[in-house]
Amino acid sequence: MGRIAYVNGRFVPHGDAVVHIEDRGYQFADAVYEVWALFDGRLADPEGHFARLERSLGELSIPMPMSRKALTLVLKEAVRRNRIREGLVYLQVSRGVAIRDHAFPTPGTPPSVVITVSRVDRAASEARAAKGVAVVTTPENRWGRCDIKTVGLLPNALAKQKARQAGAVEAWFVDELGLVTEGASSNAWIVDGDGILRTRDTNANILRGVTRLSLVTLAREAGLKVEERPFTPQEALEAREAFITGAGSLVLPVVKVDGKPVGDGTPGPVATKLRRLYIERAKATSV
Ligand code: PLP
Repeated sequence: MGRIAYVNGRFVPHGDAVVHIEDRGYQFADAVYEVWALFDGRLADPEGHFARLERSLGELSIPMPMSRKALTLVLKEAVRRNRIREGLVYLQVSRGVAIRDHAFPTPGTPPSVVITVSRVDRAASEARAAKGVAVVTTPENRWGRCDIKTVGLLPNALAKQKARQAGAVEAWFVDELGLVTEGASSNAWIVDGDGILRTRDTNANILRGVTRLSLVTLAREAGLKVEERPFTPQEALEAREAFITGAGSLVLPVVKVDGKPVGDGTPGPVATKLRRLYIERAKATSV
């Protein structure tokens, strides 16, 4: 008998089990999961796993897709249909399906629920336990690889939602030294008091924005001084101008940071000119 998966209210053959391509778990890692050990067809440590599931969901403001009681029934039914007594039960709950946008979808979007059950060979795992296992060490870097354009975007999605709730369009991440790294989906720039364009250097843990790189060249060609040097949020407030860059935002003037105006609180001439230059260059060189 083949494996059976549970997907959003339906039990389906494992090979036919699919989620939507714009599921936020797939697009943003905007999802949580739990895994129960299964002994003689029964879920181990139920209280601990349910409590952690509720906590994880709560931390992400994802509603419990159903009551604990209902979920227990569904999990047990998945186990029963798979006819597995010794194994693992995997549950994933994502924020659901929505048009791709970092910020949360409209309230009421139903979470997606997926359950799979897999068999464990207890004899083999006991044999392994009897021998013991090896480990290796690795630097703690979860998640210290913002240079990779990965879909592991949960922190970015949470930051974007924070921005949206504050009536802002973008959130700037600030590192442990109090320096701006980049935006949730863009690179961050200022035009400082000396008229120098500043954006974070790529030695920092940031995405190497393609728009950022093109703009460094374009700005220098336009006779502007560019320094890949970090700035603080306070320096942004004291700057003449600020802006963000990205394939989505292009070159977008920033007029407020944390509710306070940058410069005179209107788009500045440098950002406005760079936006025009960037769009002109992009149009002329697009393939
Ligand atoms: N930084 C982050 C975290 C991003 O997600 C993006 C774009 O999505 C950028 C920067 C800007 O990169 P690009 O100019 O290549 O679009």
